[in-house]
Amino acid sequence: MAARRHQHSRLIIEVDEYSSNPTQAFTFYNINQGRFQPPHVQIHRLDFWEFCEVASMGVLATDVETELREVKSWTEIIQQNEDGTRTLTQGSLPYEYKIVIAGNHELTFDQEFMADLIKQDFYYFPSVSKLKPENYENVQSLLTNCIYLQDSEVTVRGFRIYGSPWQPWFYGWGFNLPRGQALLEKWNLIPEGVDVLITHGPPLGFLDWVPKKMQRVGCVELLNTVQRRVQPRLHVFGHIHEGYGVMADGTTTYVNASVCTVNYQPVNPPIVIDLPTPRNS
Ligand code: 5GP
Ligand code: MN
Repeated sequence: MAARRHQHSRLIIEVDEYSSNPTQAFTFYNINQGRFQPPHVQIHRLDFWEFCEVASMGVLATDVETELREVKSWTEIIQQNEDGTRTLTQGSLPYEYKIVIAGNHELTFDQEFMADLIKQDFYYFPSVSKLKPENYENVQSLLTNCIYLQDSEVTVRGFRIYGSPWQPWFYGWGFNLPRGQALLEKWNLIPEGVDVLITHGPPLGFLDWVPKKMQRVGCVELLNTVQRRVQPRLHVFGHIHEGYGVMADGTTTYVNASVCTVNYQPVNPPIVIDLPTPRNS
């Protein structure tokens, strides 16, 4: 299937012919082979309530799906946090490093999405009409107590960590892109040699099953990028709440760190993974 080696030896991932039908791709490529439940994972119950999807290493926080069905500005969220009215965001997590990516609910982080949304008379998200430009322009700068990644990389204690917010289009939210070439172009930005990859959604076949639709909804191009080219030790994601848990393929450990259930109850405990110190640190 879809990969060839470039003359300068970088592996080029190509759009898969089954890209638009991940359930069919899963069956056709027999992706079940080689997947297993790793024995070395502990699921910790913390004694404070958390709303975000968290996986811990030092700690990694992926996808702060804080808004549920409402748009709220990060200013509001941070104020709530300071008022102590809700133990909500990264500010309250007792870790030295907190690494955050956006997901489809973080509308105000998606500049193009917001630019389109505010032009519309009818808001699909009614609370958008209450936002002022300072609530969605440069919101990243409000995150002062964590490291925010958006198609970018950071090295923490020798671990190269890369984060990206995009996921396959599903009813017009932030950071949505069509399956196939558009998403592959984002995955092509992930450098080889990354130890930890954080994306909002899963790759095909790993913790991506939506039982009510009987569908696999993970991204085929993300799977090919992870397994064939990047081969990180750890791939952390959320988004498909039904898939909370851990799997492995022998090279990469996959963590679906969704804290919310499919009914948006924030009850899944954070998942703690111990990783060996990287070779080149
Ligand atoms: P969110 O929390 O991002 O609003 O919604 C996530 C939920 O939407 C998932 O738990 C899953 O039920 C559903 N979902 C997200 N993406 C897809 C998709 O591509 N196909 C299907 N059938 N369901 C999806
Ligand atoms: Mn999501």
